Parts: sequence; structure tokens; C-alpha cells
Amino acid sequence: MKKRIGLLYGGKSAEHEVSLSTATAVSKAIDYDKYEVHPIYITLDGQWLRGPQLTKPVESIEQLQFTSESKLPNNITEFILDKNIQVQFDVVFPLLHGTNGEDGTVQGLLEVLDYPYVGNGVLASSAGMDKVIMKQLFEIAGLKQVPYVYFIRQEWNQQQMQILEKCQQKLNWPMFVKPANLGSSVGISKASNEKELIDAIQFAFQYDRKVIVEQGVKAREIEMGVLGNNNPKVSVAGEIKPMTEFYDYDSKYKDGSTVLIIPAEISSSVEATMKDMAIRAFKILDCSGLVRSDFFVTEHDEVYINEVNTMPGFTPVSMYPLLWQHTGVSYPELIDTLIELAIERHTEKQ
Ligand code: ADP
Ligand code: MG
Ligand code: MG
Repeated sequence: MKKRIGLLYGGKSAEHEVSLSTATAVSKAIDYDKYEVHPIYITLDGQWLRGPQLTKPVESIEQLQFTSESKLPNNITEFILDKNIQVQFDVVFPLLHGTNGEDGTVQGLLEVLDYPYVGNGVLASSAGMDKVIMKQLFEIAGLKQVPYVYFIRQEWNQQQMQILEKCQQKLNWPMFVKPANLGSSVGISKASNEKELIDAIQFAFQYDRKVIVEQGVKAREIEMGVLGNNNPKVSVAGEIKPMTEFYDYDSKYKDGSTVLIIPAEISSSVEATMKDMAIRAFKILDCSGLVRSDFFVTEHDEVYINEVNTMPGFTPVSMYPLLWQHTGVSYPELIDTLIELAIERHTEKQ
């Protein structure tokens, strides 16, 4: 019997558009002999819509027709009680990035509904989405990372001078200022003096109530894929070469100027360090399914972990699937594996 896959995409998130491309790509690559594909589209304002079942690849997921009947209850109580929905899927594949998708909220809903779902659980997703919590856990795991300072909006409003002082005591210029809970470089800027730092902090606060300021490093950006549950495997490494000042939103998704070098040219000892750190990061966050671990590698071969992404970019031209392709796992095989891992994790819990 074919497995019924609920493809969950879109989302109330700054990364809505990215999710649409991912969903289109998955719908093109998934094996329709093995799976029934049921699209569920979350609109930007948070409505859940049920699309028509897919029986073959679609050119663009945005062209799917949604009727007024396709609206699903987005009130969680109604959603849980809707028996019609509960029997529909064998596995849910959340192709959501950023807040309300990659951060454990949707994972929590799927837990309550008792669906197997692809990727990380509630804890790993939320810990991976909050750059401060993530760094604190990395610290416990003994992973090398750049120094940082963090604060919430209220602290900033009340103690701006002290915070600026602390940043300059603890960190060297340039600094990177980020909203704590986001991805795709949204809200991030580089600051090279105090005026830029203040602007960058104010900008980051537009996206979150918590902001992190990090010491900038001059380094190559090298990433690794991790795949598995209890015995995760690590892919080859890949380097990202943005042509812009840093790897910002446009260089990630818009201008196509970023070059990916796979496998990355690194020494075997740097590769071994990265593998070890990628696995330790995966374990300390209690990850499952997939994670992309991102590193900074300096010219002296020092390796710092930057972050993990619990739902990394997932189109066939994104780093994570490309890393696996170079490691011998094709895009359709990766989709199969993730679906199997979702079932394995769900079975293990019971
Ligand atoms: P996101 O989760 O949005 O991808 P990142 O922390 O990865 O956020 O930051 C986005 C990009 O900003 C990185 O890929 C890198 O180019 C740049 N960057 C972030 N932090 C630093 C840092 N401490 N030093 C140098 N560059 C950084
Ligand atoms: Mg990220
Ligand atoms: Mg990143």
C-alpha cells in the first residue's frame, strides 16, 4: 500500500517563499509509485488549506487550486478533533523554515496528533531555532564557538549604555547582530562601529524580542549534513562562497551569485574535527532525521561551529541535498530515508 504523505509547506514565517520552492521540488522528486502526496498549505497569515492530492509532479506548487472547502481548522482544538484529518496521513513532511515551522511549534502539534513526522522533534527544533539556547548547549558539549552577548528588548531599552559597553569589552569589531530566533539571515547585520551596532540592534529587534551580538570571524563557511536518528551519519563537507559582504538573504535565495564547492577543500584533520563537532551538536540538541551543521574555518584551520539548522534548505540545489548527493544519496533517496527515519522515531517512542 502506498504511504500517505502530508506535505506541509508555506507557513507564517519570513521564510514562506523558500518553503514554497522546497515543496515544489519535493513534489517533483517524490516517488508517486510509493507515496500518495497530500498538500497542506499554511498561508502567510496562518490559515491551513488542504490542496488536491498530487498524483504526479507539479510544475509549481503555487498553482494548486484551493477551494473554500479546503480550509482546515487552524484552531488547534478543532484541528485535533477533526477525525477526517487524523486518518489521512502515514507521515507528515513539514517543509517549513523559520518561526512557526522549524521551531518546534508545528512539531508539537504533530506530536499531539500522534503523527510520525519528518525531521527534528519539539526540543531539537526549538533549541536549534534559538541561537542563544543553541550556543549554551554547544558550550556544554564543549564545542568551540565565537564569543557572544545577548539581551532582550526590555534590557536594551533600560540599559543601552551598559549593553554597548559589554559588547565592546567582550567582543572585537566587526560584530554580527542577529535576532535570536530566525534563519535565512533575516534581520542580521554586520557592525563595524558603535553607531552601526546600535542600528543593527534596533533592526534585529524588529524581528525578535531577544538579540544576540557575536564576534565576527574572518573565515570560510563550511557546512556538513547529518542524517539519521540514533546513529547519525555525516556527509562530505561543502563550502559556501557568497559574493556579497556576508551570506545574506539575497545571496541565499535571490541573486544566485553564491558558489557552492562540494566537497570543500579542507585538510583531513579539519574534516575530522567538523565531523566530530557535527555529531556532538546533533546529540546535545537531541536531533533526529536531519540537521545541517555550519562552521567557520579560519586560515589557521581553527574550526568554530556557527549553528545547526534543523530544517535546512531542501531544494535539489540547496546545500544539504547536494552534500548527500556527493556522499552517494540522491535527492529521491534522501526523501525516502527521511520518511523511514520519521517512522522509526515514532515507533521507537511507543
Ligand atoms: P541564519 O540562521 O540566519 O543563517 P547565521 O548565524 O548563519 O544565521 O548568519 C548568517 C550569515 O551571516 C552567515 O552565514 C555568515 O555569512 C554571517 N555571519 C554570521 N555570524 C558571523 C560571525 N560571527 N562572523 C562572521 N560572519 C558571520
Ligand atoms: Mg540558521
Ligand atoms: Mg546560517
